[in-house]
Amino acid sequence: MRFSKFFMPTLKETPADAEVISHQLMLRAGYIRKLAAGVFTWLPMGLKVLHKAEAIVRQEMNLAGCLEVSMPMAQPAELWQESGRWTFYGKELLRFKDRHGNDYCLGPTHEEVITDIVRREVRSYRDLPLNFYQIQNKFRDEVRPRFGIMRAREFLMKDGYSFDADDEASADSYWRMHEAYQSVFRRLGLDFKVVEADSGAIGGSFSHEFMVLAQTGEDTVVSCDACSYAANAEKAEFALPPLPSAQEAKESGGGFEAVSTPDCRTIAEVAAFMGLPPSAFAKTLIYLADGRPVAAVLRGDRALNEIRFKNFLGAAELVLAAPAAIAQLTGGPHGFSGPLGLDIPVYADWELRLAGSWVVGANQADLHLQGVDLRRDGPKIEWSSLRLAAEGDRCPRCGAALGFARGIEVGHIFRLGTKYSASLGALYLDPKGQSRPVVMGCYGIGVSRIIAAAIEQGHDENGIILPPSLAPFTVVVTPMALEGEVWEKALTIYQQLLELGVEAALDDRDLRPGVKFKDSELVGIPLRLLVGSKGLEKGQVEIKERRSGKVSWVEAGQAADFALQFQSRPC
Ligand code: ATP
Ligand code: MG
Repeated sequence: MRFSKFFMPTLKETPADAEVISHQLMLRAGYIRKLAAGVFTWLPMGLKVLHKAEAIVRQEMNLAGCLEVSMPMAQPAELWQESGRWTFYGKELLRFKDRHGNDYCLGPTHEEVITDIVRREVRSYRDLPLNFYQIQNKFRDEVRPRFGIMRAREFLMKDGYSFDADDEASADSYWRMHEAYQSVFRRLGLDFKVVEADSGAIGGSFSHEFMVLAQTGEDTVVSCDACSYAANAEKAEFALPPLPSAQEAKESGGGFEAVSTPDCRTIAEVAAFMGLPPSAFAKTLIYLADGRPVAAVLRGDRALNEIRFKNFLGAAELVLAAPAAIAQLTGGPHGFSGPLGLDIPVYADWELRLAGSWVVGANQADLHLQGVDLRRDGPKIEWSSLRLAAEGDRCPRCGAALGFARGIEVGHIFRLGTKYSASLGALYLDPKGQSRPVVMGCYGIGVSRIIAAAIEQGHDENGIILPPSLAPFTVVVTPMALEGEVWEKALTIYQQLLELGVEAALDDRDLRPGVKFKDSELVGIPLRLLVGSKGLEKGQVEIKERRSGKVSWVEAGQAADFALQFQSRPC
């Protein structure tokens, strides 16, 4: 590609509305432009990078035996009504009507459509297993689109679905995808961790997320360096310290007393008012679990693990109660809820059994209770481990200290069991002639999010740094003049590169060399071949590696070979 014929609107200034480095650099490098909130156009330079990620994903899926299909983005409501998700999916599902008044949605994922294909086409166990995938734009009307293409509303996803005769075969399909995903992310040169994720109703170890480690990640990765344990925040377990003996627990003795806490609604406010640390408090959160009120009680400085709590209750939906409902259920205003005297089920975090004196809300305005021993004062309380893991917690497997890092979820694999095949009637006949629902798995990769994640991990003050497997070009040939011997040599090397199959660009724009250098660094081209008269006097060209900044010289005749070697190096 000759840059004089290319479209590369690079920017010097950092765009004000881009918060994270990947978003800033993708705008500056002319990779993307925003059309609306969370909706972007990919410009030629960015699209090259996106296509390279897509090609690696496609190759690895094909190698793993998956079959590519392309399903429609617009999907009729009927299918979603059959699966029950038309009402359940919520506002992320963008719904619209066609000219005949029929309800449609834009596909945020395609379980319904692919299951519809299978229920129509698959008859017998002989037709199984099947594993389909597509690489296609998804639309999710995200509540807070942000960080550019990292959390977009329209984005490119690889979604795959496996169909097997039984659980055992489905597990094989799952683990094959687990392998294939690791190959994908390794080839993309990403520093990633595979973490256990919540597998909902299916249970077991059949949900994993693939996390690219980066400060700007929206997810928390909990892991143990001493063994291989790694999980996302919701799934992460931790070793529970031993409970005090019954005797010790009894000895807490005494009783509790009321303390006036005017206008102190939050833990921070009441802690400051009473001069106690937040860890001296037990906070009470009122939730509706499938509409049924429940209270969760945990230490003031802890966060509730909502997924674990929801699973523990066996609820499909868990939402915080609104202030009006709280007032009605507890008799006190929002901010003063406490576990004593409530008429609803109360679940307390296991940790609150470790000590016998807590400050809790009194279910009355401007009042707290001090010296509460939940073991003594809350006989109906049910105990369970309800909080998220935190600094200082220990590994559930080996007891070493757990580490916490930020991660960007770039892939997710999940066992679905017969959730969709049962509701949509995707059945097959087993060898005995019995009709059974097919057993499914689903597998997603955020292809466009990968680009942002790779840039979060690969950049410096001059711009984007990508491995050749993702870079828009492997090498740019930069001539110091656009005429004479320098130009002729640059052209020859450029042509040699193309003949060898190296992804090469020729920066033949009539611009100062400094501007060209800046651009090639900004857009993330891993190698620059500089052709100048000084080097050519010795028959050499200068090579600069983007990542290390290392400069070396090669014979002009060897330059193309050097770039070819570079391009074929594994990440
Ligand atoms: P998240 O928790 O980040 O919203 P998700 O659990 O909703 O992700 P999945 O439904 O598992 O995501 O989708 C598969 C993959 O698609 C994710 O692992 C992620 O890489 C990507 N993805 C999901 N939502 C977005 C988005 N809004 N923008 C870009 N990529 C996304
Ligand atoms: Mg999501």
